[in-house]
Amino acid sequence: MQYAENILETIGNTPLIKLNKLTKDLPCLVLAKYETFNPGNSVKDRMAVKMIEDAEAQGLLKPGGTIIEGTSGNTGMGLALVAIVKGYKCIFVLSDKQSKEKMDILRAVGAEVIVCPTDVEPTDPRSYYSVSKRLGEETPNSWYVNQYDNLSNTKAHYESTGPEIWKQTDGKITHFVVGVGTGGTISGVGKYLKEQNPDVKIWGIDTYGSVFKKYHETGIFDENEIYPYVTEGIGEDILPKNVNFDIIDGFTKVTDKDAAVYTQLLAKEEGMFLGNSAGAAIKGLLQLKEHFTKDDVVVVLFHDHGSRYVGKMFNDEWMKKMGYID
Ligand code: PMP
Repeated sequence: MQYAENILETIGNTPLIKLNKLTKDLPCLVLAKYETFNPGNSVKDRMAVKMIEDAEAQGLLKPGGTIIEGTSGNTGMGLALVAIVKGYKCIFVLSDKQSKEKMDILRAVGAEVIVCPTDVEPTDPRSYYSVSKRLGEETPNSWYVNQYDNLSNTKAHYESTGPEIWKQTDGKITHFVVGVGTGGTISGVGKYLKEQNPDVKIWGIDTYGSVFKKYHETGIFDENEIYPYVTEGIGEDILPKNVNFDIIDGFTKVTDKDAAVYTQLLAKEEGMFLGNSAGAAIKGLLQLKEHFTKDDVVVVLFHDHGSRYVGKMFNDEWMKKMGYID
């Protein structure tokens, strides 16, 4: 008989899938690392397991303990799956701009969800930052995850995602392209790939309204770069410890409209029903066309599943209201 001992054993070993239509004007082979095949439907399952295992090993998370994190989706789902198998409780703190579906999904996997007002300063005691921090301090036997600065996030990708891509491409990968949020994916995969072959180029996809690209190019944290944006999952108004700028060769920024339109195109042209950051990643890859030549093997990582975006990028009324389609 062939079976997994539990759901966690099915994390990782995701397929690499060739893109055929959207990439037809590129000279090179483009392969997608397809992370929605993880049980929580995103790449975040990998780092959730690693962060929890490391916290256990360091004695930060003890039997019967409570895991606390500010998360609206993918990381929460990953943490919740691990918590169910290992017997922990989860409390997730969300801001009220998140969709009801996201809250319901986290509740469905047993998490307690606390909703905070969006329109207050981060220092306000009601803010989502203040509440998660306070819960971490006040809840007995609890552990505050902090995926932005918790370096087990990067380590998960150094130990699993990076080696998988190297092996699946037979060491022929020349470029890795990926959206950047906490930075865990790009930093872990990028470090591993550069250790195997320093010539592999690592490209980050950023969004307008985020500080990464400018910081990478100038070393300046420019607050003028920060403004509200629609694209989900990538870009930040902070510099998380998990972003290792040294291993990144460059960033390209993708507009909210392009990210949304290309999220639809991935589904319609390639049969890849994926999240909004996948749309940003493929559009960013196409923007980098001049960097690729005939023999290149370009891998793009797609983070999560389309089901979380049916009310937005897969809803034509929403797309029209935003002015993204006619
Ligand atoms: N896409 C989605 C949908 C995500 O949830 C995240 C995580 N914020 C990312 C991309 C970025 O990944 P990372 O945090 O590893 O940089």
